Parts: sequence; C-alpha cells; structure tokens
Amino acid sequence: FDMFVLAFVERLFRTTYRKDDFVLGKKLGEGAFGVVYRASLAKKPSSKNDGDLVLKKATEYGAVEIWMNERVRRACANCCADFVYGFFENSSKKGGEYWLIWRYEGEATLADLMISREFPYNVQTLILGEVQDLPKGIERENRIIQTIMSQILFALDGLHSTGIVHRDIKPQNVIFSEGSRTFKIIDLGAAADLRVGINYIPKEFLLDPRYAAPEQYIMSTQTPSAPSAPVATALSPVLWQLNLPDRFDIYSAGLIFLQMAFPGLRTDSGLIQFNRQLKRCDYDLSAWRKTVEPRASPDLRKGFQLLDIDGGIGWELLTSMVRYKARQRISAKTALAHPYFDREGLLALSFMQ
Ligand code: ADP
Ligand code: MG
Repeated sequence: FDMFVLAFVERLFRTTYRKDDFVLGKKLGEGAFGVVYRASLAKKPSSKNDGDLVLKKATEYGAVEIWMNERVRRACANCCADFVYGFFENSSKKGGEYWLIWRYEGEATLADLMISREFPYNVQTLILGEVQDLPKGIERENRIIQTIMSQILFALDGLHSTGIVHRDIKPQNVIFSEGSRTFKIIDLGAAADLRVGINYIPKEFLLDPRYAAPEQYIMSTQTPSAPSAPVATALSPVLWQLNLPDRFDIYSAGLIFLQMAFPGLRTDSGLIQFNRQLKRCDYDLSAWRKTVEPRASPDLRKGFQLLDIDGGIGWELLTSMVRYKARQRISAKTALAHPYFDREGLLALSFMQ
C-alpha cells in the first residue's frame, strides 16, 4: 500500500492540472462513490456551456480507477473512453477526493439507445448516418446487433489482453463515441488488474446483480476477504489461466446480447425476471428456451427468430457466453472469431444498398 501512495505522491508533483483549471457543467451521473459532470478547461471554455470533457469526482476508490485508466490508455487506448488525466485533490472534506478527466465521447450509452423504440435502427443511424431506403426487418436488426456485439467484444478483448477484468459490463457502461462512431467501454471503477495485482476487494459488494455472473467473486480464493485499501496480490499468468477471471465479463456481455435480441428483456424488470427463470433452470439457456418457447409471447418469438438466423449461429454464440461455469464460456478473442461474425457487418451493408 505504501508503494501505491508513493506512486501517487510522485504523480502529484508532475501535476499540470488542478481543480481550478476546470469549469463544471451539467451533472451526468451520480453513484455511491462518485459524481460525474460535463466539464471544460477554464482557459478555453467551449462556446456552449457544455464542455468537451467529462469529470468524475470520486471517493477513495478513485485511486484504483485512475490506475486502471492510465494502464488502459497505454495498452489499449481505443477500448475505453479517452482518458485525459487523474489527480488527487485535497479538500476540506476528510481525505479529499480523486478527480478523473476524460474526453466527452457522446451523449448516448447503449442503455439509452436500447431503451428507445427505434433500437437497433437508432444505432444504425449513429454509425452510418441517415441512410435512406434501407429495408427494416429481422435480418437487418441482426446485422446491427452483430456490429454492436463485435465492438463490445473487441473492447473486452483489449482489456483482457491487458490483464484487466472490468467486472461491471452493462449497457450503462458502454458509450457510443461520436468521434470514432464505435462503442467504447467506460467506468473502470470496479475493474481488477490481475497481472499487476491491483484489485479492490471491498467493491465486490458493488457488483451489479443484474449483470453479474453466478460465480460473482472472481479469484476469491487468492484474495483476502475485506482489506480497507488496494491490495497487491501476486497473480501469475498461470493463475489467470486457471481461474479465467475474464469470463466474468463475458457472461455480462452475453446478457447484453440477450437484451438486444429480446426487447422484453431490455427493461430492469424484464431482465430481473429472466435472471430468476435462468437460475431456476440451473443457468442452462437451452433449458430456459425449452420452458419458455412453447408459450412464448410474440416478443420472445422474435428474439429466437433473430438468433436462429443462419442455422442458429447467433444462438450458438449466446449460449457459449452465458454459461454457469466460467471455464466453459468462450473468451472475447475466440468469440470474435465465431462464425456469427463471418457475415459482413453494417459498414459493408451500407455499400450494398
Ligand atoms: P458511475 O460510477 O456513476 O457509473 P460512469 O463512469 O459510468 O460513473 O459515468 C456515469 C455516466 O456519465 C455514464 O453513464 C455516461 O452517461 C456519462 N459518461 C461517463 N464517461 C463519459 C465520457 N467519456 N463521455 C461521455 N459521457 C460519459
Ligand atoms: Mg457506470
């Protein structure tokens, strides 16, 4: 822990920005451990009141989040929102707070987009712009969903190859970057860096139960139960191989895939009900399908129909992500090579119209 503090003290002296350099705008989010604002640099306020930056004021957990963001910026910059800067700000409040700054990527998370009646066509518009006369239909929806899934898996593969497990993958933490016209991952506040061994155990209770894989506690046998500070645990790549902690994120990403395919599962209540049903089926998706399909609503039937396109290749991918046993789940890298993605995606589609 001392080493960790030292690293921060050292960083403090390299600081080129501080509190007064930023002007805060609209509040974008507020969780138990931080508040997120739109912001701009005081020296060059943007023409509108909304700045081109995003600022998170975080509690003690912010230290780990800065660590993760700096690592990601160096190792897989395009996976996540563009991180600018992080520092510790002493304040009158006890302990002070961590400030984290990113580029403002855009206004919509996947959660915002998914809840719209236009989904997934609203995403097609974001990626391709207004395209006239593209026919709507289940095939098209499948292509758009396929494109979104490939971008999420691409970002996850980047994080996992870096040794980082996100642990809070959900539509609210996937943002559409208007600059690159792709989805990126945000919110590394619950992430664990297993190669270097930076992990924040107390955050386990924060895992979002709607998207958490059944094992819930990754690497729980190697880590102490409740330290009050970031702990370093020496985890070798061998242990990574044994425990496959990355598969925790794959389960969550599988649930996003499921929600995109089944409109009725996009709401909180729909997802919670699904989770209950799946648990009753011992986390066996095929068993779940058998119980619900005979008396399926039109909504459910549409989801199965979408996943059954091309001989059920989508269903095959989904069932290889949402599995009870972590080691039976596909990795992000292997998933990207899955035949579901053989079909050309959205961009190719725009040339074919
Ligand atoms: P929290 O810990 O509150 O979940 P997040 O990092 O997920 O914090 O950010 C909260 C919200 O702020 C996000 O859901 C998103 O709407 C917005 N947001 C976060 N980062 C960015 C960014 N780089 N660009 C645009 N919006 C962002
Ligand atoms: Mg979040």
